[in-house]
Amino acid sequence: CGIVGYIGSRDAYPIIINGLKRLEYRGYDSAGFILNYSEGMEVVKTKGKVADLETKSEGKKLSANIGVGHTRWATHGEPNDVNSHPHVSTNGEIVLVHNGIIENYDSIKTKLQEEGFTFQSETDSEVLVNLIEYFKKSENLDLAEAVRYALNEVVGAYAIAVLDNSNTDEIVVGRLGSPLAIGMGDNEFFIASDASPFVEFTKDAIYLEDGEMASISRENGVVVKKIVENEIISPSIQKLHL
Ligand code: GLU
Repeated sequence: CGIVGYIGSRDAYPIIINGLKRLEYRGYDSAGFILNYSEGMEVVKTKGKVADLETKSEGKKLSANIGVGHTRWATHGEPNDVNSHPHVSTNGEIVLVHNGIIENYDSIKTKLQEEGFTFQSETDSEVLVNLIEYFKKSENLDLAEAVRYALNEVVGAYAIAVLDNSNTDEIVVGRLGSPLAIGMGDNEFFIASDASPFVEFTKDAIYLEDGEMASISRENGVVVKKIVENEIISPSIQKLHL
């Protein structure tokens, strides 16, 4: 399982596909991606290999310069197209990829269903994306703050990347128990489960610590926060020697 993402001015699609191939060693049963456009998003996902994802992507619009890809190792719900990531929230606004397990997904799902949220998949991950939409709407929060609220409700392990389809200049990431690195380029940023997908583009990386999240945008750069404490921190930038 793995996560790869890009925001900058290059084409995100080849970076995502090549990055997912570099992460194949981690094992997976399904793969998918989201590319974000101001006119709307493209989500493609499938059971099977990254090569199957490429086949399924033929003929789609693949020219965005912000996007995130995912390989899934199923824990909740069988490997099939619907259970593959990304997952999209009920109103179509929030998109999420997740590695890990949300242990208390069942009780959160029941509460969200009572609020009118609907679910397509059997995954624990789809509960988290709807919980983010719930906080964004009910508390009138920006994306990063809605993600922070949601992460404070969930019990489990995660590396996540989240996008809002109406904002083509932000990816929000967070980690607890699953790895996530951010590659720091020149007005462009990479995210990945390990640095191998982006080492050809930059040698500067931030390794998120457990309990940290980051908002990543071209305009504001990388803002790292502690999820529980809601404290902005200045992370150390590591030099990669790969
Ligand atoms: N628990 C999630 C699922 O079953 C994510 C699995 C993973 O780590 O890829 O879809």
